[in-house]
Amino acid sequence: MREKLKALAELQNVDLEVASLRKAADVHPRQIAELERELGVARSAIEAERARLTDMERQKAQLEQNITDEKDKVKKWEARLSEQRSTREYSALAREIDIAKKANLTMAEELAELTKQLGAAREAIKSKEAEFATKQQGLSGRMAELKGKLGEAESQVKALEGRRSGVAQGVDANLLRRYETVRKKKLPALVGVVAGTCQGCNMNVPPQLYNQLRTTLGTDVCPSCHRIIYAVEALQETPAAAK
Ligand SMILES: [Zn+2]
Repeated sequence: MREKLKALAELQNVDLEVASLRKAADVHPRQIAELERELGVARSAIEAERARLTDMERQKAQLEQNITDEKDKVKKWEARLSEQRSTREYSALAREIDIAKKANLTMAEELAELTKQLGAAREAIKSKEAEFATKQQGLSGRMAELKGKLGEAESQVKALEGRRSGVAQGVDANLLRRYETVRKKKLPALVGVVAGTCQGCNMNVPPQLYNQLRTTLGTDVCPSCHRIIYAVEALQETPAAAK
């Protein structure tokens, strides 16, 4: 009876180890996703800045084109000025030239302002890109570290699962079946009874059942939580074997 119990206790130790490894490793994919999200946000911010810069460059090119066009127009009009016969036509054209020149002046001022803004935006994006590169480097390092940990935990689980099937072979078939059923709902599925109290649900087991467990050093089922129970004395005498 006691050997059966020891074999099952050993199996459960493997299961508990797997469960705790899985629980600890569970945090890694979440952290990796969080880092990826963080990096994505930073990347979008840079991309938005770049788009703004491109837009400003387009505006600048357009403005420069407009200025050139206006200047050409003024030049043509100035050439035509000397051909004007009447004073009325002459002064009308002269006024048009004046308006065009003023418009050109305004556009030149706009261009100067835009050029200034563009320079500032280029500087800003340069420092943001440097910031992003640093951030990316830091996050990639952290991500690689997490992926390494995750891989390590996975291989540990795999090794334990390999060990588990060996250990399971040593467990009594009926006991194993019951254990597997309970394990799906509750882990630990095998619990000790200490001074008449089930360590799974903290309820007292009937005295007769407790006495029986202590005498046989075997297992039974807790009437309250339906876990597999044993008297702790059964494993206490040889603590090394329980591990
Ligand atoms: Zn119980």
